[in-house]
Amino acid sequence: MPRAVAGPEIERLIQLLARLPGLGPRSARRAALHLVKRREELMQPLAAAIADANAKIEICSICGNVDTRDPCTVCVDPMRDPSILVVVENVADLWALERAVAIACRYHVLGGTLSPLDGIGPDDLNLASLIARVQGSEIKEVVLALNSTVDGQTTVHYITDRLRDTNLKVTRLASGVPVGGELDYLDEGTLSAAIRARTLL
Ligand code: ZN
Repeated sequence: MPRAVAGPEIERLIQLLARLPGLGPRSARRAALHLVKRREELMQPLAAAIADANAKIEICSICGNVDTRDPCTVCVDPMRDPSILVVVENVADLWALERAVAIACRYHVLGGTLSPLDGIGPDDLNLASLIARVQGSEIKEVVLALNSTVDGQTTVHYITDRLRDTNLKVTRLASGVPVGGELDYLDEGTLSAAIRARTLL
């Protein structure tokens, strides 16, 4: 354990920064120092932005996205094609697909995947709301943009089964997604190609 070089307030800041994804103890220390040095232009606006976002965070009651409004920005955006619904495992995947700017669609965030081994069943996910949402709606195609993991594919089969008696077109991402791959870690080009060349289930 290295000896503390700063007071408890700064040490606490470093400890919290070190919990962020992609930041270890060393980069957290560097980030903290950077914030301290740029107090007015960076630390104070960041503190205000965190407090502001924290006060307003809401989970969209339609799609499960995280935003500061409900319905979320994506759900109320009139420029999106209401006939395509892309089903993702989590908000990170929704943001990854948006980053790839591949498709102007709406989303449904499941909040995980079916995992019999971990005891995660249909009732633990936003599946009932998905089935209810697609029935009698403008939605014509459901794109299952789930990870190529065993659990992701179990979920694909489950949803395909549940939608079998509807007139919906059900598609999945093209095979550009590596087996075992998680969407959030794919580069935008691969992700964009995978959703454009989606295949019918
Ligand atoms: Zn939404």
